[in-house]
Amino acid sequence: HNTLIMNTMKKINNTWPTNTKEQPLIIAGPCSAETEEQVMEIAHQLKTTGTSIYRAGIWKPRTRPGMFEGVGAEGLKWLQRVKEETGLRVATEVANKDHVNECLKHGIDVLWIGARTTANPFAVQEIADALQGVDVPVLVKNPVNPDVNLWLGAIERLEKAGISNPGAIHRGISPLGKSIYRNNPEWQMPLALKEQRPDILLINDPSHIAGNRQLLAGIAETAIGLEMEGLMIETHHNPDAAWSDAAQQITPQALTVLLAKMKLTTGTA
Ligand code: PEP
Ligand code: MN
Repeated sequence: HNTLIMNTMKKINNTWPTNTKEQPLIIAGPCSAETEEQVMEIAHQLKTTGTSIYRAGIWKPRTRPGMFEGVGAEGLKWLQRVKEETGLRVATEVANKDHVNECLKHGIDVLWIGARTTANPFAVQEIADALQGVDVPVLVKNPVNPDVNLWLGAIERLEKAGISNPGAIHRGISPLGKSIYRNNPEWQMPLALKEQRPDILLINDPSHIAGNRQLLAGIAETAIGLEMEGLMIETHHNPDAAWSDAAQQITPQALTVLLAKMKLTTGTA
């Protein structure tokens, strides 16, 4: 993985923290923060997996109504506790200016823009405006439709607002007919982004592409083979009981095994 390591190093610039200098960026944690106990349990179990950023959704953009929509701002206090007790950095999804302001108030280290939000330039601009003058790391998921320009455009809106080192997350595209994937990878999409913006950190989210645990490892391997510089993997201490995205989440122990098999952890686990 020599090229990968070199590229990751170039882009880290203290913005994207990895546990060791020889490891791609690993972001892990539950799809949704559910309870304070759940958030803390998973965070403590992740301490020895090679994860450097803890993810948990607080405001959940559900495609259809009537499902768990997140615990809201209350969960930000739990993420603060994760930071204090584990030393992991913490990340959550923002979709509007109120989310951004709440996150900044609570010291959230990394923000990400979800796939449904990236598809909406008005929402992205609102987020960018709320971040004016605050250079916090922001990761941008590819939009739900296969439009590389929308993805690039969201990144550019953040850059124009003064975000100096935005990153990108490849999470695939919702398929119209049957597919083995929850979201088709459409690998040409991240490759096109990489070609136009080789300077931007690009990581892969195999969890939302797979939609199930079985396909996860193969997608992660392909992504790293294509020289993506990290992985965001949904992780839960009791995946089957998760309040959202249960079928695709893996335990912290399974994450350790996955990363070791891919030789992505170098001695921190
Ligand atoms: C998530 O990361 O839990 C999420 C909702 O992802 P996406 O925006 O990629 O659907
Ligand atoms: Mn999810």
